[in-house]
Amino acid sequence: MTEWWQKFEEFLDTDPRDIGCDEAMGIMHVYVELLADGTDPVQRYPGMAAHLAACGPCAEDVRGLLAAVQDVG
Ligand SMILES: [Zn+2]
Repeated sequence: MTEWWQKFEEFLDTDPRDIGCDEAMGIMHVYVELLADGTDPVQRYPGMAAHLAACGPCAEDVRGLLAAVQDVG
């Protein structure tokens, strides 16, 4: 398998809506507030949802934040 072909397959595996870690960090608190409110944030931030599906550490951060928010509230 040539290298370019492998890169092409990696590209296909990546969700094009995935916003990446930097942007995910930026809107994470908003996303968590929507979740805590019982609002579905996936409609508003599909790129964030795609990122959380692909990125374990960010998904873990959201879980932690949500637990903290719900503890206080
Ligand atoms: Zn991430």
